[in-house]
Amino acid sequence: MSTTSHLKEREETLLCRTYSRYPLSVVRGKGSRLWDAEGKEYIDLLAGIAVTSLGHCNAELADTIAASAQKLIHVSNLFYQEEQLDYAERLLGTCRFDKVFFCNSGAEANEAVIKMARRYMQKVRGEDRFEIITLQGAFHGRTLATVAATGQAKFQDGFSPMPAGFKQVPFGDAEALKKAISPKTAAVLAEIIQGEGGVRPMQAEYAKAVQGICKEANILFMVDEVQTGLCRTGETWAHQLFDLEPDVMSSAKALANGLPLGAMLVTNEVAKGFVAGSHATTFGGGALLTACANKVLEIMQRDNLAARAKTLGEKLRHNIAAINTRVEGSIKEVRGHGLMVGAQLNLDAEKSKAVWNALLTRGYICSLTQETTLRLLPALNIPEADLDSFVKTLEEVLIAHNS
Ligand SMILES: *Cc1c(COP(=O)(O)O)cnc(C)c1O
Repeated sequence: MSTTSHLKEREETLLCRTYSRYPLSVVRGKGSRLWDAEGKEYIDLLAGIAVTSLGHCNAELADTIAASAQKLIHVSNLFYQEEQLDYAERLLGTCRFDKVFFCNSGAEANEAVIKMARRYMQKVRGEDRFEIITLQGAFHGRTLATVAATGQAKFQDGFSPMPAGFKQVPFGDAEALKKAISPKTAAVLAEIIQGEGGVRPMQAEYAKAVQGICKEANILFMVDEVQTGLCRTGETWAHQLFDLEPDVMSSAKALANGLPLGAMLVTNEVAKGFVAGSHATTFGGGALLTACANKVLEIMQRDNLAARAKTLGEKLRHNIAAINTRVEGSIKEVRGHGLMVGAQLNLDAEKSKAVWNALLTRGYICSLTQETTLRLLPALNIPEADLDSFVKTLEEVLIAHNS
């Protein structure tokens, strides 16, 4: 079996340079455990970036995928497929939306959202509105339009000109949003908890204010739940934490536990924005993908994983914050809902990186966002003992790095 350094050398010659990889190559996974090329075992607190919510190589999903692979994998969206409808029914049953469009990724779900907002305003309302307002610190994807929506210079560098029609306002500032709305504004697109932005949750009052401002201006309130979606935050959807009623929602990451599936969900009113031919995708929502996604949601509902995420997440955040009582001032802030947790360290970027690296060396996989925030997005069925041992290890690592 190849070692990590050998793979790194091969990759240099074979793959376009886009990723700065973690210093390990993963060869096998089971539940919340991963094994690297050298046979070392890790506790995975990242779950493929909030994707494998039911753990790696889930046996029930493996059976579903195997059965679908023998029956029907792909025929394109030129045909009716019952699997797609069975899943749509179950998915729409979890939220206030009436209709769904399936695609392949989070960025594509947001592309659909952006196109829908424009087309709904222009064709259904007959208004010349196209502008989408997003929030600073957002992340909406890597296609040109979603990079424009993301609005961060580091993701736009070298890709100009950006598609027009996007505007950004500070996160948490309802007044600024109100002022930014113009006769050209079609919608506000926002994450309820900014993920890449360092696990920054909206406060309930702010979230309600954003919704209120959209309603008052008669524009669409659209939520990006690509990362927060599907039981991670303690509710099936993060907007349900604050009883919000968005008009449009995007989702993707956790939908099919690692198979590529994205979705745009809309109300019946907004759905009028698309007619046959308005938008399409070759792969989106194929039979195997949606059969798997249907099983994912069935398992999450059967095993009450949203409630489990809520309970375990509260305990995890409490336990991380409690490290401060023993290693004084080591944790600046612990944020999040359910099992979407950000622990901001009270260290500079370099020391934070060293903490992250020490955790990895000791067999704990998490990510470091915004330089100093450890982001935890474990599988929703992770054994509680794995979270406890992580907290214990984090404390030991912080003792070593806090001087
Ligand atoms: C990951 C993410 C995206 C992009 O999803 P891809 O599948 O990588 O295109 C968009 N929005 C949010 C909030 C995300 O976390």
